Amino acid sequence: MTDPQDELDLAADAASLTVALCDIESVSGRETRLADAVDAALRAVPHLTVDRDGDTVVARTDLGRDERVVLAGHLDTVPVGGNLPCRVEGGRIHGCGTTDMKSGVAVQLRLAAHLPAPNRDVTFVFYDHEEVEADKNGLGRVARDHPDWLTADFAVLMEPTNATVEGGCQGTLRADVVLSGHRAHSARSWMGSNAVHAAGEVLRRLSAYQPEQVTIDGLTYREGLNAVGITGGVAGNVIPDECVVSLNYRFAPSKDEDEAADVVRRVLDGFDVRVTDSAPGALPGLSHPAAAAFVAMVGREPAPKFGWTDVARFSSLGVPAVNYGPGDPMVAHQREEYCDVAPIHECERVLRAWLT
Ligand SMILES: [Zn+2]
Repeated sequence: MTDPQDELDLAADAASLTVALCDIESVSGRETRLADAVDAALRAVPHLTVDRDGDTVVARTDLGRDERVVLAGHLDTVPVGGNLPCRVEGGRIHGCGTTDMKSGVAVQLRLAAHLPAPNRDVTFVFYDHEEVEADKNGLGRVARDHPDWLTADFAVLMEPTNATVEGGCQGTLRADVVLSGHRAHSARSWMGSNAVHAAGEVLRRLSAYQPEQVTIDGLTYREGLNAVGITGGVAGNVIPDECVVSLNYRFAPSKDEDEAADVVRRVLDGFDVRVTDSAPGALPGLSHPAAAAFVAMVGREPAPKFGWTDVARFSSLGVPAVNYGPGDPMVAHQREEYCDVAPIHECERVLRAWLT
């Protein structure tokens, strides 16, 4: 049962709805109250079918259209920084979750309630645990346990992008280069072999390496292969027998994780390279008709996404995805977090036009 004070009025405009959503606190792990409110509001909409898994709510139209698109957003926020309830001032809403990303969620809810006959079938996904460790992520859980709920031709993740389309995302790979030597007393260093000195050649190759720029669907992804840490040394009087250089490779979404590992191994041929962790990127998929129509409707030059986002989860299910939302990513996770009202209405208008 939803507490009557949590009842969401989907007839209210998207800005007022943003305020109502933010004022129901939903720090990661404590999304149930908000998920209940979203669930109840959507179940009252006759043209939607609603499913629930934990604190993830999925609503869909089932009109038998040729295409299906997903609009997705997370319900959780980072810890509140004394910035709730929301304060509205001069066309700007201040408060935790306004930009990241309840303004996007408000737009999703408005469209879910007020588009009974969209030109494409739409699946609206509201998920939990985005702002914490990846293994808790609600979208990941649904992808694992109910992949059919996410079946679609294209997805829009409504993370803050200042109302421009940010396509795909780069992949990321971490690796350790393990250098070994032979321990000796530093007073008789000729008896040993210095593993820290051996790192010199690794660093030289990394600095000489020219990272690729890869253009996909008109978006240029800038790769980067960098040492991000180095450890070694036993004591002030010992020639070290081990040194580890840690690397991070951010790679264009045209490469898979194996190809990315091959690049690192090729650059560091002859060294002991151990991949410790990797996550694939996501292709922008802007050539798909639904995506192209969407980009045309937004009317702004799309940009590549360099960081890793949940669009990669859609991509791994074979669903091309972009980021598009009303907030400004630069103020996300700050005490001073805010979202302007104008882009909230703009996003709703653009998505409504695309789906009509
Ligand atoms: Zn977010």
